[in-house]
Amino acid sequence: MNTDQTIVVIGAGIVGISCAVWLQRAGSKVIVIDKGKPGHKDGTSYGNGGIIVPSGVAPVTGPGMIAKAPGMLMNPNFPLFLRWGYLPKLLPWLVKYLSHANEADTRRIANGLTVIVGDAVEQHKALAKGTPAEEWIRDADYCFAYANRAAFERDRFVFDLRREAGQVPEVIEGAGVRDYEPEMGSSVDLLAIMKNHGFIRSPGRYVAALAEVFLAEGGDIRQGAVRDIDLVDGRIRAVITDRGVIDCDRAVLATGVWSKVLAEKLGVTVPLESERGYHIVFKNPSLSLRSTYMMTGGKFVVTPMDEGIRCAGIVEFGGLDAPASEAPFKLLRKQMATYFPTLEYSESEEWMGHRPAPSDSLPVIGELGRTGVFAGFGHHHIGLTGGPKTGRLIADLIMQGGSNIDLSPFDPQRFN
Ligand SMILES: Cc1cc2nc3c(=O)[nH]c(=O)nc-3n(C[C@H](O)[C@H](O)[C@H](O)COP(=O)(O)OP(=O)(O)OC[C@H]3O[C@@H](n4cnc5c(N)ncnc54)[C@H](O)[C@@H]3O)c2cc1C
Repeated sequence: MNTDQTIVVIGAGIVGISCAVWLQRAGSKVIVIDKGKPGHKDGTSYGNGGIIVPSGVAPVTGPGMIAKAPGMLMNPNFPLFLRWGYLPKLLPWLVKYLSHANEADTRRIANGLTVIVGDAVEQHKALAKGTPAEEWIRDADYCFAYANRAAFERDRFVFDLRREAGQVPEVIEGAGVRDYEPEMGSSVDLLAIMKNHGFIRSPGRYVAALAEVFLAEGGDIRQGAVRDIDLVDGRIRAVITDRGVIDCDRAVLATGVWSKVLAEKLGVTVPLESERGYHIVFKNPSLSLRSTYMMTGGKFVVTPMDEGIRCAGIVEFGGLDAPASEAPFKLLRKQMATYFPTLEYSESEEWMGHRPAPSDSLPVIGELGRTGVFAGFGHHHIGLTGGPKTGRLIADLIMQGGSNIDLSPFDPQRFN
């Protein structure tokens, strides 16, 4: 174990902060650098649905997606949006992405994701154990809400994948749904309940709390934008920022959707896109929800957070620079009014952010070539869930020189 080294972690989202905590606990001197404060509003870790999903093994690109996608795009009530002007830029990535929409690849991706999410609740608890950050983690059921049994049966394939990952739902129907969640609207007649899941009471504040843990345990957090990596004989020597140079022995690239450019500077091309997602927080809600929900008809989650009830979801392709669109917010509001018709609130807050989406839906974890820079990005829909496990894996790779888990599905070089 090499403890006599300085490691710079670039990015203070859930992945970067998790890496920093575990690397420091393993004995390294660790410096975190981010453009903003840990958990800040422009990072994806601020605005997610907050759900810790050990059953989150099914990628968006399931079998049959190619045939269904045009109809989904044309349907204004379907939560898939495209800013058409972005299509030419998106196309090379989209072709690769859709090439995985078959049964064999979906199973392969699910097996890979199981490694990252399978023990996620325990991983969050271990990361935060004995610290004030523990307060932000809640045990909860995660319920897939369906209009009826036929709609549930149509998702048989994804539930088979979840079953294979050890996640078996308990199904309740009809009046049982209202017994479980009295304010659930009549458009839901079946809940497939996943036990032993969890959620974070406020994802941005949780990341900030973990950053405080890192500082209290001896860490160093700096603000600045990383522009480049200085290599000598192909190995990292320093990280170059807009506020100066930080000398180091190793680095972790945990810059979420913004990782592609820095990885490319190190000679590794990762087909990474922004899958834009949206949330609305309904403040001072009239309901107190018992659990967390995936409204399968609208493909968004509903979570009882400290700030209010947050609904989060939607997939929109439109790149990193365009402002938020109006239509996704309108759709979320309309669907929330159907699913929770008695919901009243004092005010609401809207947010749009960027899921870091590699074309094969698997995160990128491992050394970029032989540079001494380790990738920890590309967690798509499961980054909150899988951040702490990724932090452990990267700490093992750097501090022990390897992992006893097969990390080849996440190899950064797999696209070259
Ligand atoms: C609407 C929505 C709902 C979601 N719901 C869930 C959910 O319920 N459960 C779940 O598990 N996942 C969910 N996700 C996915 C999850 O939020 C992401 O996968 C995760 O937050 C990614 O974390 P990260 O640390 O990789 O990236 P980020 O949180 O984006 O952090 C990257 C950091 O890098 C910094 N950075 C970037 N470039 C530079 C640079 N050059 N120099 C310095 N700093 C830099 C940024 O400022 C940022 O702080 C959801 C996502 C969305 C959009």
